[in-house]
Amino acid sequence: MFVDKVNIKVKAGKGGNGAVAFHREKYIASGGPDGGDGGNGGNVVLIADRNMSTLMDFRYKRKYSATNGGDGTGKKCSGKNGEDMIIKVPLGTLVRDTATGAIIKDMSDFEPFVIAKGGIGGWGNTHFATPTRQAPRFAKSGLMGEEKEITLELKLLADVGLVGFPNVGKSTLLSVVSKANPKIGNYHFTTLYPNLGVVYVSEGNSFVMADIPGIIEGAAEGAGLGHDFLRHVDRCRLLIHVVDVSGSEGRDPIEDFEAINSELERYDKDLASRPQIVAANKCDILEDMENLEKFKAYIEEKDLPFFEISAASHTGVKELINKTSEMLSTLPPITVYEPDYVEPEFTVASPEDLQITHFEDIWSIEGPWLQRLVSNTNFGDYESRNFFDRSLRESGVYDRLEEMGINEGDTVSIYNLDFEYHR
Ligand code: GDP
Ligand code: MG
Repeated sequence: MFVDKVNIKVKAGKGGNGAVAFHREKYIASGGPDGGDGGNGGNVVLIADRNMSTLMDFRYKRKYSATNGGDGTGKKCSGKNGEDMIIKVPLGTLVRDTATGAIIKDMSDFEPFVIAKGGIGGWGNTHFATPTRQAPRFAKSGLMGEEKEITLELKLLADVGLVGFPNVGKSTLLSVVSKANPKIGNYHFTTLYPNLGVVYVSEGNSFVMADIPGIIEGAAEGAGLGHDFLRHVDRCRLLIHVVDVSGSEGRDPIEDFEAINSELERYDKDLASRPQIVAANKCDILEDMENLEKFKAYIEEKDLPFFEISAASHTGVKELINKTSEMLSTLPPITVYEPDYVEPEFTVASPEDLQITHFEDIWSIEGPWLQRLVSNTNFGDYESRNFFDRSLRESGVYDRLEEMGINEGDTVSIYNLDFEYHR
């Protein structure tokens, strides 16, 4: 079975906890703090792979987790960083947020993409030592890793899509012009998943052609095979519309041509207006010359390029490919989808969202809301820092600190941030 849409869960690793430890040596009564930091949690990373052509592997494995960072230990030893979880996806996979359907990323190049960030490790007590606080019995816990539910949707990356009724010779044509090895058979629906082939035109000039399963009437409404496959021609820059003109199956070329086009139209208006070349196939077993002439006149009336070919005996194929290549050179590149996913808005935290723990003059504030605020703040940027300050103030956390007895100059510790408290 061909799988081109799946929902999966990804979970990055949690950061390791910082350690509370003190240096110990014979004859030294009490050494300084030497608790190491927690390691960072591993990321979940997506990488496009040209050799994959389906999302089949994801049918049986739906959850992907990176490993957690190790906890820090004494002697200033940091915990080990968690290992990244690398997920290979076919080139051309769209990554969507499952809940909203918004596009997070189009995996149309080979840049690795971090889909879930690992939590950073917590600081060990070494970080909290100051001249006046020589034995901090305090360390930070690691941050949680990001967790997401995403939908992977394959939209093949091909310059040219072959469309047409089943059995008209699409797979044969692909196998003749490329090294692809699609199944060919004299029965309908032989192609159960799309095939891609690289067509070499001349030195340094090639394009990618996709053979998608036959489109049948009603496919755009999901009746039977075909509908699911239309998404694979979405990105194509040009369509070669293959029509069986031989009359050997009692088909009428004009009717077939119109039926396929109205399928494309029903699926997506944009797809119907994609540049088309018409390939009149099976000319080697043509039964009615007049029928072909009628079809040819009909197509030329529409001002579409028309080629009489026989994929089986390679006749006319070269001309067809040359014209395809010529047209491609004038067409815009393959569509790459822009992300339209926006992180949900921050709402001001309610007091119970924030946990305050207190050790001597260190006040640690934690909570999921705050964690997101910190990881979305760019502290090198004035505006971003301002937003952070404002959000904190509005959360009412300072009032709570006052109530709990915070003093001027105490340390406020928020994840990997530390600052002195001033009214
Ligand atoms: P698809 O369903 O459109 O992919 O069609 P296939 O490529 O699988 O071909 C269907 C049948 O038509 C096969 O038996 C092919 O051998 C045959 N066929 C394809 N092209 C030609 C052609 O140009 N001439 C003749 N005589 N038969 C062809
Ligand atoms: Mg086929």
